[in-house]
Amino acid sequence: MSVNYAAGLSPYADKGVCGLPEKFDSPEELTGKVKILTEMIKKCEFLVVHSGAGISTASGIPDFRGPKGVWTMEEKGETPKFDTTFEDARPSLTHMALLGLYKAGILKYLVSQNVDGLHVRSGFPRDSLSELHGNMFVEDCEKCGRQYVREKVIGVMGLKPTGRYCDVVRSRGLRACRGKLISTILDWEEALPIKDLTRAEAASRQADLALTLGTSLQIKPSGDLPLLTKKKGGQLAVVNLQATKHDKHANLRIHGYVDEVMKQLMEALGLDIPKWEGPTVCESFTVAKPEPPGHLAAPCRVTAKKEVKGVKEEEEEEVEEEVKKEGKKKGQRKRPPAPPTNGEVDEEAAVGVKKERAESPPGIKDGK
Ligand SMILES: [Zn+2]
Repeated sequence: MSVNYAAGLSPYADKGVCGLPEKFDSPEELTGKVKILTEMIKKCEFLVVHSGAGISTASGIPDFRGPKGVWTMEEKGETPKFDTTFEDARPSLTHMALLGLYKAGILKYLVSQNVDGLHVRSGFPRDSLSELHGNMFVEDCEKCGRQYVREKVIGVMGLKPTGRYCDVVRSRGLRACRGKLISTILDWEEALPIKDLTRAEAASRQADLALTLGTSLQIKPSGDLPLLTKKKGGQLAVVNLQATKHDKHANLRIHGYVDEVMKQLMEALGLDIPKWEGPTVCESFTVAKPEPPGHLAAPCRVTAKKEVKGVKEEEEEEVEEEVKKEGKKKGQRKRPPAPPTNGEVDEEAAVGVKKERAESPPGIKDGK
């Protein structure tokens, strides 16, 4: 399937501000700002990252509102350029750096508006990730909520039935669930997945540093989540070439390619960027109990490339992934408990569950 998933959405008039000019910090400015970001990250206790389409352009997937974005081109009556398919797209340096930051215990939660599935396929643990607008590779059961991560894109959008049925058997001897499987991709104005949204809000409130990467923050409620961190006294760092809706709230504003910023950041933190070895699905990556000496292990469900096909979460092979030696270095932060996921839905969440309505011309100035 082509990566032009946008073509499968209903027509919708208000797509926000598109095609704003891009701004670039000078190399010296950029390095100076990454230094500041490094210090902010070293000092913070709970880092949440919010990612948008800008982190996948290096993977060949166009963004929406950039100079060559899907909506920008649509406004001009032109067709965006697609360099890949969702199945062939490889995680970018930024995707892998985020995995590295997570494994190092620094990044605590990741919130993404991207539907390309690259965070999941990079091996980022799904229990620490909210995909607010769905995932092209994931379908879920209408009846029991079980999610299936597939090797190929689902090919259906707008939360519609995919034609497949749930084969979960809850207990021995009982019949399978047989609930209808539906796409997880939201169309305009469809409600956000409540579990993902609730977790993203809880993490945003708990965070003392929100870092946004490659998003113009125009879409509600996703784009407003970093403001929850600010409201609680935390800080906000924004990395994006174009102006964003919340630049005025940012403590640090970096105009540069996300891959360049993340490369310099990982170097400054002394962390390796993990290599990608094919699509991987990781459900959870937690250091659960104290392990015997010399056996510090982080249990992680890893699905090797050939096993991804039609795999269901709980039937994947459990692979104990050893925490790298660097993980034991002095000063290594421990991973605190995951953000609360008690399923409570507060009023703000209930009000905010309409997706993808870009506010009528947001207060974006073109950041000159
Ligand atoms: Zn089911």
